[in-house]
Amino acid sequence: MRIVVLAGGIGGARFLRGLQRAVPDADITVIGNTGDDIHLFGLKVCPDLDTVMYTLGGGINEEQGWGRADETFHLKEELAAYGLGPEWFGLGDRDFATHIVRTQMLGAGYPLSAVTEALCDRWKPGVRLIPMSDDRVETHVAVTLPERDPAGAAGERKVIHFQEYWVRLRASVPAEAIVPVGAEQAKPAPGVLEAIAGADVILFPPSNPVVSVGTILAVPGIREAIAEAGVPVVGLSPIVGDAPVRGMADKVLAAVGVESTAAAVAEHYGSGLLDGWLVDTVDAGSVERVEAAGIRCRAVPLMMSDLDATARMAREALALAEEVRTP
Ligand code: GDP
Ligand code: CA
Repeated sequence: MRIVVLAGGIGGARFLRGLQRAVPDADITVIGNTGDDIHLFGLKVCPDLDTVMYTLGGGINEEQGWGRADETFHLKEELAAYGLGPEWFGLGDRDFATHIVRTQMLGAGYPLSAVTEALCDRWKPGVRLIPMSDDRVETHVAVTLPERDPAGAAGERKVIHFQEYWVRLRASVPAEAIVPVGAEQAKPAPGVLEAIAGADVILFPPSNPVVSVGTILAVPGIREAIAEAGVPVVGLSPIVGDAPVRGMADKVLAAVGVESTAAAVAEHYGSGLLDGWLVDTVDAGSVERVEAAGIRCRAVPLMMSDLDATARMAREALALAEEVRTP
């Protein structure tokens, strides 16, 4: 079975581990979000690609969900001693090596997709990991900076990099607009459209619907290819009990006018894209509303508390896919 998964960072990566457990023989292609990418210290950092690569390759910091296991921060401390920031982005010594290799290869002329493949030669994630695009896309957020903001122009309206919004400000102010800068001009990376066209099923893991899956869908051609693939498209809600399980997805959903409920996220994707949607059992009351929107819906446990629970979620998603395939 050929499965295509559109993934952000932690939610996507953890789901993928369950999917691999559920269907060990499946041929899985992951289309990774690169809207979170940022240049730091002259290096190209791709947080979501790396989270997937490290998680599936056994190098992730399990408690944190991102970054390397067994990490130290000497390099960052030395840079800070020279007054070089930003200090708010947690780049560890082991992690730095990945960004150095990536930046060197990009500098030598390799596209990000080829670089990602080369990095995966080491990590062997067991999936084919492709960035959504080789072109630069960076998600930016319009905010009014907090009144007491030491690092910024306090109280001023500004457009900042998504990482600054998410990591430095911890989404503490409303996101007034979210712009995937460069997305409109970006082309899908080699292999993306081919993987979608050749898929037996397409899954949206419980990744952020706006700044992870939404950014991937903003690359012209990807949304259309999924809608036209003619195979089941099934998603799993990252919103459980009217709140994100982890992180601040409610803030970015509000920015695009979507309430933080499992049903509203399904409607946001829409029946033009989604055939099936899984909500958590606590949201069983919203199944009817989702089905009224033309999307087949089931309520099942959606907490990725351990690998077995996550594998069960993956099986439920694939079962729902079969159900919508044979109406
Ligand atoms: P990021 O790039 O690291 O933010 O990760 P993703 O975009 O892939 O996923 C983030 C989303 O995963 C958040 O909105 C969380 O609500 C969701 N999430 C995290 N853990 C769980 C879980 O156990 N169950 C469900 N249903 N969603 C989860
Ligand atoms: Ca991310």
